[in-house]
Amino acid sequence: MRRLAVNVDIDGLRLYRAIHGLPAWSGDAADLAWTIGVPRFAALFESFGVHGTFFVVAADLEVPAHRAIAARLVAAGHELGSHSHTHPYDLTQKPEAVIAEELRRADAEIAAVRGSPVSGFRAPGYNTSAFIGRELKALGYTYESSRFPCPPYYAARAGAIAAMRLVGRRSRSIVGSPAHAFGSLEPSRDVNGLVDFPMSVVPGIRFPLIGTSLSLLGATALTALAPVLRAQPFLNLEFHALDLLDRQDLVGHDDALVNAQFDLRQPVKAKHAAFAAALRGVVAGAEARTLEEHAAGWI
Ligand SMILES: [Zn+2]
Repeated sequence: MRRLAVNVDIDGLRLYRAIHGLPAWSGDAADLAWTIGVPRFAALFESFGVHGTFFVVAADLEVPAHRAIAARLVAAGHELGSHSHTHPYDLTQKPEAVIAEELRRADAEIAAVRGSPVSGFRAPGYNTSAFIGRELKALGYTYESSRFPCPPYYAARAGAIAAMRLVGRRSRSIVGSPAHAFGSLEPSRDVNGLVDFPMSVVPGIRFPLIGTSLSLLGATALTALAPVLRAQPFLNLEFHALDLLDRQDLVGHDDALVNAQFDLRQPVKAKHAAFAAALRGVVAGAEARTLEEHAAGWI
């Protein structure tokens, strides 16, 4: 049977400001990615009867409103995975002790909210390493979902970072390892025994099947593309909480980011319709589970 997983990286707005080289901004006690984006995704998944995996930057759980939202996800049957403690884009370049501490603290804080052990990890910025895999295995994890086998994405990211340097701004993002861009498209068990769930792309052209690109395609194209999506034996659809925000949500909160982040210009209604069209095309006849449930049944 075809397998399907939907997941959301809860990257706070502060992380997008860092990508764009904007100064820190602290107008709201709670982050709109959490308070608006996460509930919208939970409602979208639930409207299709699907449980998703939400990857949490554990330091965010210090904010009571975020913690309450995370607890509601657990109560609704969604999975909380680790997206590190503070989401350093250059995690792989940190000293090993720092990496280990990022993973260990995130694990402890997310497990406390779940009330059960954490099973999976997604690396910040899709940058992972063999050391990270070994540390996750030692923490008892069963899977990692950090690989994005999409060469056009890495090319675009390298270009964006270079362009910002040219205009004297410094992105916190890093180019990362292009080797990940050319890896296998199918899930497999890695050298550490973890199940490796790559983000899905269209085979051949390696067009990314993530929130940003799905919203660019739009609902009509995604309805037409449903057979292509259904042809994937394992479809791992990755979203970011910001994917269900638009400039209306941010106006008066974070105007600099409204102008810097191009995908906020598309109305949330159109993005929601695109994601719903994608899900409508693939949910029926698929074994739709959280990543930890898929990992638990992996041979
Ligand atoms: Zn992230």
